[in-house]
Amino acid sequence: MAITERTSWLEPRPGGLYCIPGDFYIDPSRAADRAVITHGHADHARPGNNHVLATHETVAIAEARYGSAAGRSFQRVKYGEVTHMNDVSIRLVSAGHVLGSAQVVLEHQGQRIVVSGDYKRSRDPTCAPFEVVTCDIFITEATFGLPVFRHPVAADEVARLLASVAATPDRCHLVGVYALGKAQRVIALLREAGYSDTIYLHGALQKLCSLYQRLGVDLGDLAPVAGLPKQALTGRIIMCPPSSLADRWSQRMPSPVTAVASGWMRVRARARQRGAELPLIISDHADWDELTATIRDVQAGEIWVTHGREDALVHYAQSLGLEARALSLVGREDEDDQDAEVAAAPEVAGADD
Ligand SMILES: [Zn+2]
Ligand SMILES: [Zn+2]
Repeated sequence: MAITERTSWLEPRPGGLYCIPGDFYIDPSRAADRAVITHGHADHARPGNNHVLATHETVAIAEARYGSAAGRSFQRVKYGEVTHMNDVSIRLVSAGHVLGSAQVVLEHQGQRIVVSGDYKRSRDPTCAPFEVVTCDIFITEATFGLPVFRHPVAADEVARLLASVAATPDRCHLVGVYALGKAQRVIALLREAGYSDTIYLHGALQKLCSLYQRLGVDLGDLAPVAGLPKQALTGRIIMCPPSSLADRWSQRMPSPVTAVASGWMRVRARARQRGAELPLIISDHADWDELTATIRDVQAGEIWVTHGREDALVHYAQSLGLEARALSLVGREDEDDQDAEVAAAPEVAGADD
């Protein structure tokens, strides 16, 4: 249950979280004059903003995706760098979600508010780790905000993929991954596990993989799948968007094993729906243990939950004696899954019991 609304210098508005004294939105859901952007996923970085403050990497990602519509002017910052808008100080610190992802640390009249954006605490070789910043108000996501969601160690999931590759040399493996973050993380984890063969890419993944490499993330030898004869792909790993597993593109591959890497692969119905023969539970969002640990770590007196399964996390924070409220921000989806709400409904109902 959400507590009664109080006045604050940061408030949820229809266009997103708005900072009143600084006159800017954080991850606005519609184009704004001044926007602070936490990271490059499309439900956070939208085209058409006028002035954009974000990390160098996030601006590069937005430009790769939107071209000149990414914004009219940019203030590119490094993690930890302090800037001001009016009398609000702004500092971006790493969120551990995807390359360039940031939490927004705001200070005004002696009060500190941290807007986490999307985040995770588990290891990711493609981005800086989540940094704990203590604060008065902590604003968190709750994509996997139910106790049933506990992600396994990502390296173990990648080991299952490699075991399947070794066991079926006459087939290829298609791995469905979101284009920003998940694709590069899975590739980097394969490299860490010692897989040094060329990894093949569906055309939809090439641009962001190249950008990651230009920004200094080592992904090893990558090649486009387009134009290769079917036989050349036997025994290979091919990364593709999850949606392409179901379309004609995948039928051109040599007897593919279909895998999907997503936190939602924990839900069996979702794995079936995605057509995943080999579901890999790899998420770039905090699971229940990470969300609750973070709420304890930041030592805030007040917790706001932006989107996801909000109720259980609000209840958890209240059980610690903290003030907590659900913001139910609109326009936020998990990048891995557009139909998350529908498929997660049974678990939400269960949590209310
Ligand atoms: Zn995200
Ligand atoms: Zn998001």
